Amino acid sequence: MKKTLMTWLAAALLALPLWPLSAQAAGYTQTAYPIVLVHGLFGFDNIGPVEYFYGIPSALRADGAKVFVVQVSAANSTEVRGEQLLTQVKQILAATGAAKVNLMGHSHGGPTSRYVASVRPDLVASVTSIGGVNKGSAVADLILGVAPAGSFSNTVLVSITNGLGTIIDFLSGGAGQTQNSLAAAQSLSTAGSAQFNAAHPEGVPTTACGEGAYTARGVAYYSWSGAKPYTNLLDVMDPALALTSLAFSGAKNDGLVSSCSSRLGRVIRDDYAMNHMDEVNQTIGLVNLFETNPVTLFRQQANRLKNAGL
Ligand code: CA
Repeated sequence: MKKTLMTWLAAALLALPLWPLSAQAAGYTQTAYPIVLVHGLFGFDNIGPVEYFYGIPSALRADGAKVFVVQVSAANSTEVRGEQLLTQVKQILAATGAAKVNLMGHSHGGPTSRYVASVRPDLVASVTSIGGVNKGSAVADLILGVAPAGSFSNTVLVSITNGLGTIIDFLSGGAGQTQNSLAAAQSLSTAGSAQFNAAHPEGVPTTACGEGAYTARGVAYYSWSGAKPYTNLLDVMDPALALTSLAFSGAKNDGLVSSCSSRLGRVIRDDYAMNHMDEVNQTIGLVNLFETNPVTLFRQQANRLKNAGL
């Protein structure tokens, strides 16, 4: 009797610390609706579109999420990319039998997802914008030559251009879909974004750097972003992002998007110690070791959606 009790006690003690862990892991990312990951400007034709969100789909699937990674035009207007995404969302709904999807978009994938939620809110449960270009990018303004005249010295301008060249070489064009870099730059400029926001205002902060509506037309809106251009000595992208970050004249940014521009709906945070590439766990997992891992942020967001019944 005594021995049985001791055995039981020992077993209970061993199981105790394990119980809450396994309870958290099982179904932690099991959202009610499928998660659709939407890439940003440029595709990764050297490593494939799926790996744009490096290691993220598998990490979400591991604890119950249904995850789809779409491919739209790497460089094109938000509306063109948005229509391509809408077509793929309908295919996902048909294939899964789900009524809605949870869209998670990085960079230009933020506004692209917003387009679909704006024209077909009935098909979208939530939009999560990660490093999203919601109010334009100073880098796009520079490409179009619409940055305030005389705001940069020639040396700084050359640095920014060199940094951008490196980034574009690295990201290179996506395959199979129409590319239109000028249309992309216009969509990503401050003026182009303002025009898009006038037609599709859902979730966009009405103040310069506030939060937006948490829910609009039945769709929940969330966002997060990094604000540290240089985070890892081993990542070849970091020096380039440090150069393009000069375009923001000191405003908080992730190298390509300012913190204020990233804000949409409920702002989870706009200043993680991450750059634009870290936000999707690039380059191949080389991120800031002293910050929450980006994969963890995606998992936490899936759990947030799950807890919201989405
Ligand atoms: Ca990185």
